[in-house]
Amino acid sequence: MNTAVAEIETEVEATQRTMKAFVMRRIGETGLLEKPLPEIGAGDALVRTTAALICTSDVHTVAGAIGERLDRTLGHEAVGVIKKLGSDVPGFSVGDRVVVGAITPCWRCENCQRGFPSQCGGPLGGWKFANVKDGTLAEYFHVNDAEANLAPIPEDLPDEKAVYACDMMSTGIAAAENAAIPVGGTVAVFGAGPVGLMAIAAAKLLGAGYVIAVEYDGKRQDFSRYYGADDVVGIPSLDPAAEILKRTAGQGVDSAIEALGSPETFASCVKATRPGGTISNVGYHGHGETVPIPRLEWGVGMSEKTIRTALCPGGRVRMERMLRLLQRRRIDPSPLTTHRFPFSDVERAFHMMAKKEDGIIKPLILF
Ligand SMILES: [Zn+2]
Ligand SMILES: [Zn+2]
Repeated sequence: MNTAVAEIETEVEATQRTMKAFVMRRIGETGLLEKPLPEIGAGDALVRTTAALICTSDVHTVAGAIGERLDRTLGHEAVGVIKKLGSDVPGFSVGDRVVVGAITPCWRCENCQRGFPSQCGGPLGGWKFANVKDGTLAEYFHVNDAEANLAPIPEDLPDEKAVYACDMMSTGIAAAENAAIPVGGTVAVFGAGPVGLMAIAAAKLLGAGYVIAVEYDGKRQDFSRYYGADDVVGIPSLDPAAEILKRTAGQGVDSAIEALGSPETFASCVKATRPGGTISNVGYHGHGETVPIPRLEWGVGMSEKTIRTALCPGGRVRMERMLRLLQRRRIDPSPLTTHRFPFSDVERAFHMMAKKEDGIIKPLILF
């Protein structure tokens, strides 16, 4: 690029007042809209998006999971370059490459200070992108409480890897962290979507001795083995809990991870876990009034099985840990990027993700 062109482009960028954004027009309908650039306050940042991922949560949102969100920009997994900074964001400069967690807590409220930042301000309140404010599937996005929610991306780490820190790695790893896996212990992971696969990789990093994946899709079974599953329960006609008991000499696993979000799967987790074991849920349970617990396998309420739940953890320190794993190649999420699209094609990517077409796992959107 010659200097003259660069100068013209900088001028265009400087006077830019609007941007393209991929939005939920109403329940069941998406579109690309021209929107004003977000305004920022003293503690905020404006980030120019360079790479983003579409998430199954975006699909749930458009299907109506959180109700009507008229023309709300979708997306919560993105990296980019700081375009503007509020006066009160120490430690960062315009032009820094940054990652921001899918969850952007305030870090000041009661729940944040009690140690549950994902529940900022109320249940699931740390989830702000595409929920209570515009999301990241736009040319620019706003970051609240930027000092605590942005993390610099190391120079040698490409955007397309760093973007996995936002949600897939943070959530999958939280699932394994919450599962209280004993070193050498046995683990079952139900659902080998991107979060389940990252949970498998994390279980291995945390020292699991034997990891079983429950997954019926052939390609995802291969991925399970790639990320460290020793065994796969993959035949839908078999009872997965009974299979897991069989493969653990009738004992059940120390830790079961629910990464799918279905009452049947949750029940199987309880059945497949040995007394004193832990059931770690990160699956989204989108239907029904209750999630039943199988009474007998729960030891009629006395089996000392622990049930833990989590929403993706965010924040700078968490993101820095995720980036460190990527930088040292402890986890490589790159194979999960099965498809790539320019931002102009984001709608097509979204619909492929919604219908799970062509074996799509994660579509990467490049800006
Ligand atoms: Zn996500
Ligand atoms: Zn808070």
